[in-house]
Amino acid sequence: MTPAKQRPISISSRDRAVLDSQKKRYEESTGQKPDWGEFLATVALLGLAAAGIYHLAKTTNRSPQSVDVQCCQCGGNFLLAVPSGMGRAIQTTCPHCNADLVVDLGNPR
Ligand SMILES: [Zn+2]
Repeated sequence: MTPAKQRPISISSRDRAVLDSQKKRYEESTGQKPDWGEFLATVALLGLAAAGIYHLAKTTNRSPQSVDVQCCQCGGNFLLAVPSGMGRAIQTTCPHCNADLVVDLGNPR
């Protein structure tokens, strides 16, 4: 089931031009063509991690359904399920120390 589309976000034409060029750059760099919602959700999570609002966790051992994550706060490891169709970044909480984490799954291989 596809969720209903929301109404457009009002945005200045200048910001729109900047976002368009950033999305184009993301697509050229990653080879992905996300829709606007997925693109904005992904870059918002990665941007908030870069701004220090979330902690960016490292991943190892990616499998199609899951990824091993190492918490950057406590160093604990845990297994994170990756639902199919998930974007590049996932927000989660460390089961060991409750830190708010963003997991960057990296570019698809
Ligand atoms: Zn932790």
